[in-house]
Amino acid sequence: MTGHITFTMIKPDAFSAGNSGAIIKMIEGAGFRIQAMKKTKLSKEVAGKFYEIHKERPFYQDLCEYMSSGPIIAMVLTKELAVDSFRELIGATDPAQAAPGTIRQLFATSIEANAIHGSDSDENAQIEAGFFFSELERY
Ligand code: UDP
Ligand code: MG
Repeated sequence: MTGHITFTMIKPDAFSAGNSGAIIKMIEGAGFRIQAMKKTKLSKEVAGKFYEIHKERPFYQDLCEYMSSGPIIAMVLTKELAVDSFRELIGATDPAQAAPGTIRQLFATSIEANAIHGSDSDENAQIEAGFFFSELERY
């Protein structure tokens, strides 16, 4: 079944600020089920691989530094129309543009340190989940 999985990371800024619990509460409150969850710390190389699609963008090097600067929490989530529903919950990339009550509006500190990742398509959700977790068939 496609369309029911998304992948997220609570990014280093939100984790180090102690906002993981509040963010997970919002995620569950919005009807997502946590299927897999892992606290880890990315190396710069692994962050670079995860964000490879952005490697020509001017912010890529800074993004890789930032994403490897501290622990993150990676999660696979399920809900109907998970990708779109989750993008709505997290808000726009730039917290200054994020709608009131979204996770980024509440917790992000900058366009880079924007608290949380959300997959942008069903295909990328599968790829990103597989990047961190190997038990995909259970979801
Ligand atoms: N980012 C940044 N500067 C920008 C755009 C993006 O530092 O001008 C960072 C930010 O952390 C963002 C990530 O790069 O979440 C990936 O960018 P994307 O455009 O995929 O945004 P997202 O899908 O996370 O909203
Ligand atoms: Mg993206």
